[in-house]
Amino acid sequence: MKFRDFSPKVVEWYLEHHRNLPWRKTRDPYRIWLSEIILQQTRVLQGLPYFEEFVRRYPSVQSLAAAKERDVLRLWQGLGYYSRARNLHKCAKVVTQVFQGRFPADVDSLRELPGIGDYTAAAIASMAFDVPVAVVDGNVYRVLSRIFGIRNDILSTRGKRTFAELANQLVPNVGPGLHNQAIMEFGALFCTPRNPRCTECPFQRTCIALKDSSQHTLPVKRKKKKPSSRYFYYFVVEEASKLRMKERRGRDIWTGLFDFPLYESSKPLKEKELIKYLPASRKRNTNPSEGHFISSTYRHVLTHQIIHARFIQLPGGSTKSVLLRSTLKDSSMFTKKEVMSLPKPVLIGKYLHDIGYQ
Ligand code: SF4
Repeated sequence: MKFRDFSPKVVEWYLEHHRNLPWRKTRDPYRIWLSEIILQQTRVLQGLPYFEEFVRRYPSVQSLAAAKERDVLRLWQGLGYYSRARNLHKCAKVVTQVFQGRFPADVDSLRELPGIGDYTAAAIASMAFDVPVAVVDGNVYRVLSRIFGIRNDILSTRGKRTFAELANQLVPNVGPGLHNQAIMEFGALFCTPRNPRCTECPFQRTCIALKDSSQHTLPVKRKKKKPSSRYFYYFVVEEASKLRMKERRGRDIWTGLFDFPLYESSKPLKEKELIKYLPASRKRNTNPSEGHFISSTYRHVLTHQIIHARFIQLPGGSTKSVLLRSTLKDSSMFTKKEVMSLPKPVLIGKYLHDIGYQ
């Protein structure tokens, strides 16, 4: 199809079919940025309440900058990839302190901000400031690969360049933000991964994938590596209605969130090895098959890892083994109320819910 015909067609489709979402009704770069960062993590319907709550609690970039990181992480809880929440907070601070609370309008300056990559910079620049630059996300890869019959691997450097060049050639000088929203919405609602609505599609006369029935093989994407398994054994120490918890540090998953003192094993541990950690009184009362004091395995799937976690409940003062003592280091006791307000991985939230913490 001719390049110049693409944008009017997809925009026409958009005006008729798009969903009414709060970030579509604004040109405020703060709200556009917030929505884009949240939507990188989740689908529109799941992301909507997060967006609304962020805007309610922090109606401006300055108010987000002034928040405590812990509160931002707490609000982000459930979205995963917590480094994005930390960058969100850092970015708000830079925009407030360096740019006097106004997002820069050009793509290069936007890209320099924490947590803003090519995609988000293009989204903000085009939607808030009318800069004619293309956003290229999974929807755009799919739509362009199918309509134009491009078989380059979207994870390869060459493939990324090819798609970015094509996408930028298609962006109009007038209304680039509308064009970008239209193509992403078209990919999300019509040209979907599994069931594209080809029979109702405005591109059906020119779409190459439809012509050669290759919709389901496009876009081409090389296979991802199998996720690795990790085995977490958490010590849940309770004393005087307080729980011992620990802030995660370093470059591993969940940095800045709170979990329990943890022993990580390279392989699954047998029941009898876990029972060793219980004090004598609990050993006597322990029937592993009933989950007394030692939980069953919680399986928690992340993008590149599968966590297999078990929780061992201990009374305060059970620190007899060296291993246990070392895992308790840097942990502190928290009341139930405090535990509930700490930012925690979803896995820990699930366990707490199961033992009666709401
Ligand atoms: S015809 Fe089908 S594959 Fe082609 S753009 Fe339309 S929905 Fe996508």
